[in-house]
Amino acid sequence: MYDPNNIFAKILRKELPATCVYEDDHVLAFKDIHPAAPIHVLVITKKAYSSFDDFSACANEQEIVLFWQGVYKTVQALRLSLQGYRLVTNIGTDGGQEVPHLHVHILAGKPLGTKVCV
Ligand code: 5GP
Repeated sequence: MYDPNNIFAKILRKELPATCVYEDDHVLAFKDIHPAAPIHVLVITKKAYSSFDDFSACANEQEIVLFWQGVYKTVQALRLSLQGYRLVTNIGTDGGQEVPHLHVHILAGKPLGTKVCV
């Protein structure tokens, strides 16, 4: 199911470059190459899960906690709590997911309104 040749797997293996903004043992967070907002960061798991759906079905509780803690630590590293931000995760075909490796988009840096999607 999981494609180890997806772009984010290559970024994790350092085969492709990325501008890292936060990293720990469980997540890597880096700038989106085509930002949809002034701040647009992707937080990915270091383990091989193809989507939020796959992750939620197969990861254990500790992995799930550590992933979401990594998302929040990225938010803290970017100092976004005061002004606010949006989290998005696209899943599958109808969800518009392009890269089949679990990731959460963090969008921020301006009022996002109701129509910003990625
Ligand atoms: P998805 O549609 O899967 O939720 O989002 C994938 C995101 O990955 C898109 O916002 C796209 O701009 C971003 N992206 C695709 N390829 C690369 C890449 O090589 N480097 C970085 N930093 N972002 C990428």
